[in-house]
Amino acid sequence: RVEGGVSFWEIARSDPTRVAVIDPSGQETSYGDLLVRADAIAAELLELGLVRGDTVAVLMQNTPGFFAVQLATSQIGLYLTPLNFHLGADEVAYILTNSDSLALFVGEDEGLAQIGAGAADSAGIDARLRFTTGSHPGFRSIGALLARHPDPQDRWQGLTMLYTSGTTGRPKGVKKALPHVRPEEALASSFSAQHRTHGLMLGPGVHAVVAPLYHAAPNGFALAALHMGRTVVLFDKWTPEGFLRSVQTYHVTDTHMVPTMFHRLLALPESVRAQYDLSSLRAVVHAAAPCPVHEKYAMIEWLGPILFEYYSATEGGGTAVSAQDWLEHPGTVGRVWPGAALKVLGPDGNELPPREIGTIYLRNATPFEYHKDPAKTAASRQGDFFTTGDVGYLDEDGWLFISDRRSDLIISGGVNIYPAEIEQVLLEHPAVQDAAVIGLPDPEWGAAAHAVVELKEALAPSEELAEKLLEHCRGRLAKYKCPRTIEFRGLPRTETGKLSRLRLRDAIVDERA
Ligand code: ATP
Repeated sequence: RVEGGVSFWEIARSDPTRVAVIDPSGQETSYGDLLVRADAIAAELLELGLVRGDTVAVLMQNTPGFFAVQLATSQIGLYLTPLNFHLGADEVAYILTNSDSLALFVGEDEGLAQIGAGAADSAGIDARLRFTTGSHPGFRSIGALLARHPDPQDRWQGLTMLYTSGTTGRPKGVKKALPHVRPEEALASSFSAQHRTHGLMLGPGVHAVVAPLYHAAPNGFALAALHMGRTVVLFDKWTPEGFLRSVQTYHVTDTHMVPTMFHRLLALPESVRAQYDLSSLRAVVHAAAPCPVHEKYAMIEWLGPILFEYYSATEGGGTAVSAQDWLEHPGTVGRVWPGAALKVLGPDGNELPPREIGTIYLRNATPFEYHKDPAKTAASRQGDFFTTGDVGYLDEDGWLFISDRRSDLIISGGVNIYPAEIEQVLLEHPAVQDAAVIGLPDPEWGAAAHAVVELKEALAPSEELAEKLLEHCRGRLAKYKCPRTIEFRGLPRTETGKLSRLRLRDAIVDERA
């Protein structure tokens, strides 16, 4: 049991009319309704012969139905694989097959139902195990299940299989058996760490889910919010002003964001930002990608010391830091949280002293394995520690600083260049909307840093502006780190706010071939 917490099931029984979810159209679903739906789904899956350890997939936008499926599968010990709803039919079919999903759930959305139907055919999903919260040919209606299974039962066994974001390659299935028998103990580790470290999200409140539920972080926080008895407000499309409006309308108390959202919020004119009453906000948690230091200062100045950052991955993690501590150690992603451990290793596997940059290894209370990829699981491990390939250092007091991901390192003339550092400098320039730095082959240096910049809307690319940006870098970075070349184009960011340097590098290398 998380201190001060109760479980979704307890609340649904004791206070069934409490609002659990407000969907993007403003429609409310109560705890009681969600319980009845989750239970009917669980009962139906059991009746059709699914057993603990089987896998079920969900292809839904941010809707209450997503939670019904997630609560159902967690009750009866099925792995739940949420599918990224931005993927095409082939990619969805790949994950359906790769995850060995036996059932598929789709929502109301017509386009997604079509993608789901095609993918379910390719993956050979039994016709009786295709469900929808809407009404689509070829899918069984969840509404109709309610009459078949009217009496909610008490059950709980937690298994999950979330897929990683696919920033460095194909998404990987991360399989975990949550160790405890009760849901409130098995909340996302990033949530419970924040919760224990900073006392976040205790008791009633309103949690805004501003990112897709198929991603580990928003998913974990949303489910945690339901187990804490909070109301969850779902967004389908996030816009900076729409977010501020929702905070005011629903008196949002906490949310989980990615740093690109900060960038877009800060781009709003001061006069627009001042129109909204944000006084209900108590905690803005952020993670998933590096947050430029100057933007975090600006957010804290605007909203007060309510920013809480953590560093983690789908595999587990990590570290956490409050705004107060961050202000004393600017740029840190935090200190290791209770129940986890961390070390920074050099190339020979030796533990490095403070301030030396190496590969970050984490240890988790909940072990994981990459689904169907024992070689990758083994390669990520060092004893009971694992790495996702992030590179960084610890200071003398155990605060962690991330330099970058190993696969994005640019080794130029034998010296390591960390793209994230250069990107931060570029993002400080008022003309820059977004920036990426990648290594391109260079006959003299092996690799050379190439900057790709997306300009603010009204600005036109020019030689002169490129020269100004390079000048800006030269004034702030050691010479060897300054980009050799610069180009202007739109940047591929994933829906979870991560910059895909891999996709960008592939596109540029292809064009030049
Ligand atoms: P894939 O593993 O498929 O390439 P991914 O690693 O992006 O995708 P996630 O599990 O969504 O998949 O993200 C984890 C990664 O996000 C971490 O390894 C780290 O690189 C980055 N990250 C998480 N939190 C932070 C943070 N606070 N600051 C900087 N980077 C972060």
